[in-house]
Amino acid sequence: MITIDGSEGEGGGQVLRSSASLSLVTGQAFQITNIRGGREKPGMMRQHVTAIEAACAISDSTCEGLEVGTSEITFRPGTMKAGEYNFAVGSAGSANLVLQTILPPLLFAGGPSHITLEGGTHNMGAPPYDFIERAFLPLINRMGPSVSAKLVRHGFYPRGGGKMEIDIQPAPLRRIDCLDRGELRSVIGTAIFAGLPYDIAEREVKTAQNVLNWEEDAIAVRQLPEDQGPGNILLLEAEYDHVTEIVSGFGKFGIKAERLAKTAAMRMKGYMEGQAFAGPYLADQLLLPFALAGGGSFTCVKPSQHARTGADIIARFTGRTFAFDQQEDGHFLVSLR
Ligand code: AMP
Repeated sequence: MITIDGSEGEGGGQVLRSSASLSLVTGQAFQITNIRGGREKPGMMRQHVTAIEAACAISDSTCEGLEVGTSEITFRPGTMKAGEYNFAVGSAGSANLVLQTILPPLLFAGGPSHITLEGGTHNMGAPPYDFIERAFLPLINRMGPSVSAKLVRHGFYPRGGGKMEIDIQPAPLRRIDCLDRGELRSVIGTAIFAGLPYDIAEREVKTAQNVLNWEEDAIAVRQLPEDQGPGNILLLEAEYDHVTEIVSGFGKFGIKAERLAKTAAMRMKGYMEGQAFAGPYLADQLLLPFALAGGGSFTCVKPSQHARTGADIIARFTGRTFAFDQQEDGHFLVSLR
């Protein structure tokens, strides 16, 4: 039985989710204490419980102590079963993080799966749906499997109610090397809003344009039906030959539209001025599939605490370790040893 202290390193939900994914793929049970011990409100929230319930459902695994608020569970993995599944977070918690938990094991299941996920689709502190669809999944598909995603309805905090569908066709994961972005193909930005004043999105577009100077109309406003709100997100997207980076600014009461748009635009500007393949979020999310592929490398900006912690958890379950080597140009080369 592997024991994990959930407060170590980043101390967030990813320690728990990665442990569950790795447990299913490697067949090793684990006990985790101090779940999300590094967070302001520690313990399992609704979305973490749903992620572990989903992990159990796709594999006949068992989990002791699973409930909202708990800080300790024991997970015993069963046998993976491909199939049709429907998981609802039951709050505005991120449905994408449920997917982050069950996708790696389902890539190793004996057949295709169709997953319907309900909950939040555009949550702060989680990959927004668009990031999964256009930044993350294309790289998974380059490794062999065929995974496609469809957004049925947006879900924002605090209402939730979002829905997406995922089709997974497993294939052996092969190693890939992601060192070069290729040429820039296009840039596009969207200020999405629902049930909020139009001028919020308009001000986001204006502010982002002031920083990025993209072509006129490259950043547009998109209004969703009122009942999908209230909600707002600014998505800035740069598509290169070999990778797409999506930077998000999450609308939140008390945060001015100009401020979130400027922060997001500055981050996109920083990414585009650099050469690194992966932005900070993609970097931590690539580690697990790369480890399961048994090799591969990518370049990124300075690895986040999420990435370092993710690598530690991977090492506990697989014995495989990542090297984070700073290059002369300041970027880091991340490779499986
Ligand atoms: P945790 O904070 O431990 O629950 O993990 C959050 C996960 O969400 C990590 O895998 C992050 O890479 C991912 N994430 C958080 N914010 C973003 C974002 N703006 N874009 C893409 N991924 C994100």
